[in-house]
Amino acid sequence: MYHSYSTDVFEQAYTYHGNDLGAVWTPHRTQFRLWAPTAKHAAIRLYQSGNPDAQDLIQQIDMVPGDNGTWTASAEGDLNGIYYTYLVHVGKKTVEACDPYAKTTGVNGRRAMIINMASTNPVGWENDHDPNVGMKLTDAVIYELHVRDLSIDPSSNIQQKGKFLGVVETGTKTDSGIPTGLDHIKSMGITHLHLLPIYDYGSVDESQPSKAQFNWGYDPVNYNVPEGSYSSDPFHGEVRVNEMKQMVKGLHEAGISVVMDVVYNHVYRAEEFCFNQIVPYYFSRFDKDGKLSDASGCGNDTASERTMVHKYIVDSVNYWADEYHIDGFRFDLVGLIDTDTINDIMRTVHRKHPHVIFYGEGWDMAQGITKPNVQMTTQGNAKLVPGFAFFNDGLRDTMRGSVFDPKASGYLCGNIIPKKALLNCFQANPGWTADPSQVVNYISCHDNHTLFDRITLSAPKASHSQKAAINRLGAAFFLTCQGVPFFQAGEELLRSKPSHTGEPIGNSYKSPDRINSIKWSELDDVNVQETAAFYRGLIQLRKALPLLRMTDRREIDQNVTTITCDNPHVIVFVVYSKEQRLLVAFNADINSASIKLPSGRWDIMVSEKKAGTEILGHAENQWKLNPLSSLVMVQKRNPAD
Ligand code: CA
Repeated sequence: MYHSYSTDVFEQAYTYHGNDLGAVWTPHRTQFRLWAPTAKHAAIRLYQSGNPDAQDLIQQIDMVPGDNGTWTASAEGDLNGIYYTYLVHVGKKTVEACDPYAKTTGVNGRRAMIINMASTNPVGWENDHDPNVGMKLTDAVIYELHVRDLSIDPSSNIQQKGKFLGVVETGTKTDSGIPTGLDHIKSMGITHLHLLPIYDYGSVDESQPSKAQFNWGYDPVNYNVPEGSYSSDPFHGEVRVNEMKQMVKGLHEAGISVVMDVVYNHVYRAEEFCFNQIVPYYFSRFDKDGKLSDASGCGNDTASERTMVHKYIVDSVNYWADEYHIDGFRFDLVGLIDTDTINDIMRTVHRKHPHVIFYGEGWDMAQGITKPNVQMTTQGNAKLVPGFAFFNDGLRDTMRGSVFDPKASGYLCGNIIPKKALLNCFQANPGWTADPSQVVNYISCHDNHTLFDRITLSAPKASHSQKAAINRLGAAFFLTCQGVPFFQAGEELLRSKPSHTGEPIGNSYKSPDRINSIKWSELDDVNVQETAAFYRGLIQLRKALPLLRMTDRREIDQNVTTITCDNPHVIVFVVYSKEQRLLVAFNADINSASIKLPSGRWDIMVSEKKAGTEILGHAENQWKLNPLSSLVMVQKRNPAD
């Protein structure tokens, strides 16, 4: 039966193109439209509350068949704040399900709420906008954060711990007076804050807000609804909407664009997902044995190639951009989503919001596609999705060693890497795209060990200050590379996720707060302070130097080169623009190393523990690189060069 969903006959009869799916509220009546082509009967149940256990049914209204497999109904009066579900008779079963197009829900996302969205807007929302409009993707500096991690540790001294509103609290400090939370993030100079899933997910019980619960949130339940556990009141649907908008507005006011992590490639539980209940398993792919396809490793994969799943994902991303002013989307396992869907998303969102950025995990993993000529959004297909960027795992593994072997070393911990491979990293030339704007460079994200923990695993004998130096070496590399820099929150604080026994946790998706949280008190450590300041300085420098942010392959190939250096642990790059020449050098050796400088006098911008836009000193002819250190020097270009 499920394979008939992908046939031309089914798609021609049952593809609905309208934009009125879900509940459309007006002060006088609310109109409903549900897509349920296989249903024999459909009805709406109106409830007083959003609590799925409350016996507070107000009314049941039958729906009538409409166009292309849809069902419609209308309910008179002002229903703002009333909850509802759909009752659908399909096959031999009657199911009660939430609305796939729910704009908000009651606790745990079981009942949708009819809502006057305008009433949820914070004061001044009509003037809220992306503070970084006009920025190119290579101008972005992306910082990846989990809402709860930022504030939940007592040392944050943030009041709204674990909440949307905690993300935008200002004036917070550690007990020793060092800024925490948003003030810290703002001071780093990042341009985009990428938030791990903030839509409604299933692994945290919203009905127990005082219980410590943690999950990354890669288990979507309601795609168009903010997660209730991040709101101050998950029981009233309007609160989460309002508070998430306040967070977006607060970030925009701090000069920071907001990126949302979106997980369309799988759902929390395929059999319980509302769309799959209403139209049995329409949302999910099946393998050739008739089982749910599980390339994601999460129990199910989304059938993005089906017309109404395609429409659903396109509608959903547009909704977040329109309604919540989201400035960017990071697609989880986008290698499971077809390129037509991704291109339609970019085209439609950019029509209204040309500044919105898109990137994702383009691993090649899809299976169970039953339609012909469907291409997946993988690194290898980067050419098919111009404007969409991919995580560069090549740079990550070159720097820290293979992700599949936590004890392996990369360049940073002394492994000898061919200079050509380092040059490819530095030039944003990963082999799967020529376009530097499609390359997201990172050496840590929420997945796998933190950078500091990985350094500990690779170089167990290194001292704390040596590990901090290695961490800074890595930062200098990815923040001076061509492409788009990205880092995990706390990488600049030598963040670690140790277990009880001290063994670092690589997959902390449901680990307790004590493992996941950012410990702001670590800022009392001088190595941490120096490292945070170093990141800050590198970001300032990157913003000040357009030649670190080129957008054209040919320009990079012509102007970014390496110069000979015998030490296998040392690499020296030179970057040219019309006006400037830049020398960038890295020494991953535990001994110092001498390098010969190209002619002329150089202004030192980055050396040892210091980085920024102020000149730290000058150099000519030769320079001694300290152990585990980086160097950036600039000179005005002689027109005769
Ligand atoms: Ca939830």
